[in-house]
Amino acid sequence: MIKVAINGYGTIGKRVADAIAAQKDMKVIGVSKTRPNAEAFIAKQRGYPLYIADLSKKAAFEKAGLAVAGSVEDMCKAADVIVDATPGDVGATNKPLYEKLGKKALWQGGEDHEVAGFSFNSSCNFKDAIGRQFVRVVSCNTTGLCRIIHEIDKAFGVEHVHAIMVRRGSDPGEIKKGPIDAVVLDPVTVPSHHGPDVQTVLPHISITTMAMIVPTTMMHMHAIRITTKKDVNREKVIELIKNHPRMGLVKKTAGIRSTAELKEFAMDLGRQRADLYENCIFEDSIYADKKELCFFQAIHQEADVVVENVDAIRAMTGLAKDAATSIKLTNDALHFIPIQNNH
Ligand code: NAD
Repeated sequence: MIKVAINGYGTIGKRVADAIAAQKDMKVIGVSKTRPNAEAFIAKQRGYPLYIADLSKKAAFEKAGLAVAGSVEDMCKAADVIVDATPGDVGATNKPLYEKLGKKALWQGGEDHEVAGFSFNSSCNFKDAIGRQFVRVVSCNTTGLCRIIHEIDKAFGVEHVHAIMVRRGSDPGEIKKGPIDAVVLDPVTVPSHHGPDVQTVLPHISITTMAMIVPTTMMHMHAIRITTKKDVNREKVIELIKNHPRMGLVKKTAGIRSTAELKEFAMDLGRQRADLYENCIFEDSIYADKKELCFFQAIHQEADVVVENVDAIRAMTGLAKDAATSIKLTNDALHFIPIQNNH
């Protein structure tokens, strides 16, 4: 049983904690918070020992009725693996602690590739992560791009990818972020960082990305155009998506054409936190002609990386020797069935 600590129990950390707690081969030995907020009470309700970054705040936690198990360092000492889900750029500052303790650690996409020296996506490079001390799970957008680009590359060969990311302005709980009434080019310059980030996992892929932020909290939407080396076949693309354990096909029959309807569907399905772990690719948008493939995919920013974190732990600790085994264990434990099997 691999002992996992979650350093940073926020949007990603709380989801990864629940996903790990659901697995048979790993367990959560603690989570960390900086202040006693609603998420800290969820940790208590779930039975996760609560550790804090700044021990001088211990009295504030205890006054709120939250028992403190110790410091972040105490938590890391007790773990085999640390999932660092602190905010972007904070994670890198924790690296000396993990090095000092000689622990395995994985970071999220808000950190640079260099923090771990290896960027992970289970469908693309699971085997290269086996036994590593440090791994970075790429961002939500990069995860969604890597999954589909890798499949298309294997089947038809990718000449070039052009992807436009329409990104959510904030996560639903973030009340201080925007925009409220603007489409913000982020960045104005082309390419955005997403293309180079895909290349940290798939170095040989030629890709140009553009990105903007819009006033929504639910999901990102990607408009993707791929030119292929061989002629691309629409039916085969649909089969690839249907057979992939982390990709979902939004079929015409569902009548869904927005992120709002997708999230409503996830809620009705009874998914925990209405999480969509899979790329949600709109069947009707799939256009294939000779060497050109176009489609829209929606990505649930809070969820797609969660299952990747679980697989990354299996690779780093040798709990699984290949991606298919780990992905099946992770998906089954979460009762996760990609959406095309629900409609
Ligand atoms: P978040 O702000 O929701 O959660 C971060 C948590 O870390 C908070 O609970 C905060 O209290 C805690 N924290 C802050 N400083 C800390 C410290 N020094 N020690 C311990 N805990 C500390 O952030 P998030 O959205 O979960 O993002 C975490 C990481 O995941 C980032 O790298 C981000 O880029 C990445 N990521 C986020 C999303 C998303 O959509 N939210 C998607 C994919 C990847």
